[in-house]
Amino acid sequence: MIAAVPQSNRQFRLARRPVGMPTHDDWQQAVEPVQPPPPGGLQVRTLALSLDPAMRGWMNEGKSYIAPVGLGEVMRAGGVGRVLASSHASFPVGTLVAGVLGVQEVATFSAAEAAKAGLARIDARLGTIPQWLNVLGMPGMTAYFGLLDVGQPQPGDTVVVSGAAGAVGQTVGQLARIKGCRVVGIAGGRAKCDWVVDELGFDACIDYKAGPVRAGLKEHCPRGVDVYFDNVGGDILDEVLARLAMRARIVICGAISQYNNTEAVKGPRNYLSLLVHRARMQGMVVFDYNDRFPQAIAELSGYLRDGRLKSREDIVQGIEQFPDALNRLFTGANFGKLVLQVAKDEALTT
Ligand code: NAP
Repeated sequence: MIAAVPQSNRQFRLARRPVGMPTHDDWQQAVEPVQPPPPGGLQVRTLALSLDPAMRGWMNEGKSYIAPVGLGEVMRAGGVGRVLASSHASFPVGTLVAGVLGVQEVATFSAAEAAKAGLARIDARLGTIPQWLNVLGMPGMTAYFGLLDVGQPQPGDTVVVSGAAGAVGQTVGQLARIKGCRVVGIAGGRAKCDWVVDELGFDACIDYKAGPVRAGLKEHCPRGVDVYFDNVGGDILDEVLARLAMRARIVICGAISQYNNTEAVKGPRNYLSLLVHRARMQGMVVFDYNDRFPQAIAELSGYLRDGRLKSREDIVQGIEQFPDALNRLFTGANFGKLVLQVAKDEALTT
């Protein structure tokens, strides 16, 4: 049954630009009346939001691959929702859609705004709503194109991935295994390391909180690292640089260890290893691959269906939890893809 259009819309707006880790004072909670959508537009009830490390970058002023969120604006966030009201030909009432919904309970779009928000129908037969925010969503697309297009793994290669138990990392490691590589994860804590080895089939995992990464790389990558998928940057990137194989490829996907820095970003000291090993390091932004998402979704959903790919989501309940939930990414408290369930009365996994 489709829920009635709510009267009011709870939202989180950006109140000020954070210094270091975001605090509650950086957010303004607002409640707005819900207005009907314009002719040709639609209204979407947010079911679940994707909480992403990139959101920290969007809170900063300055040039990046996307404009910053303006002060006073609803915080940008991807999500999945159900169409509540619509005169848009592509999105009838009841349709499940994914796109940029913002941190709010109800998102209202004109036809042009729906296109700008990247709204697209999703097929609930291919995966659950949390999986559509994970392996079939932006993190899965990042893993797929970052690993395959930029990392170009060959069977027998040693692939190392940091943030191994997180959203992007879990799919990178499993996909590399599927492609015939030896996979070594790097993650914080025993539980995460045990999970990626025991449940996801990684060959090994280095707990960077328990001891030196260098020793772990020496033990588990005796022939060097052919592909490093970097989610964290900082000291761990330097340690992997010191252990490259000839013609290694380093995928610069993210640098979460640096996102809350109050000083300049720490760059790699060991970059001359690229010269010695004729290696390359290349950045990637997932949105460059938008046109090819259907190909990746078809392949990854096939692996989910035949059991070769597993997924784990960490679901926090309630939009009011947003500020604290977001910060879990930066303390490592999330275990799996971090999802904020906004509509508590609609099951996400049926
Ligand atoms: P995630 O891995 O699910 O969550 C973040 C994880 O980062 C935490 O669970 C924590 O895991 C780890 N972490 C936090 N602080 C750290 C530190 N100081 N040192 C080492 N690890 C730290 O997040 P995700 O959504 O998959 O994103 C992973 C990376 O990919 C981020 O850097 C993100 O910005 C990037 N990304 C890039 C693109 C792109 O288009 N380039 C797209 C999506 C995501 P531990 O417990 O293991 O420390």
